Amino acid sequence: MTESPFIIRRGSACCNCGACVRRCARGNFPARDGEVAIADDYVCTGCGDCVKWCPVRALSVRPAHPAAIRRLAR
Ligand code: SF4
Ligand code: SF4
Repeated sequence: MTESPFIIRRGSACCNCGACVRRCARGNFPARDGEVAIADDYVCTGCGDCVKWCPVRALSVRPAHPAAIRRLAR
């Protein structure tokens, strides 16, 4: 699995609601056997939509990446 330069995912917090599946325009969160995963051919623009819509805060922006924070704030 490729790590995103923008997003951190805490898998243990994920309730598989599918919000990130529906929101990510890049299709980075495929559902496999009812569980949401991160795509192997992961391409993240850092738009922050998955972070904003995750109801259990399982996704967050890497704090050390200023570009991600700017994009999330838009
Ligand atoms: S930040 Fe945007 S492009 Fe990246 S995984 Fe989340 S919704 Fe997809
Ligand atoms: S939005 Fe959050 S809780 Fe829902 S499937 Fe995605 S990571 Fe899991």
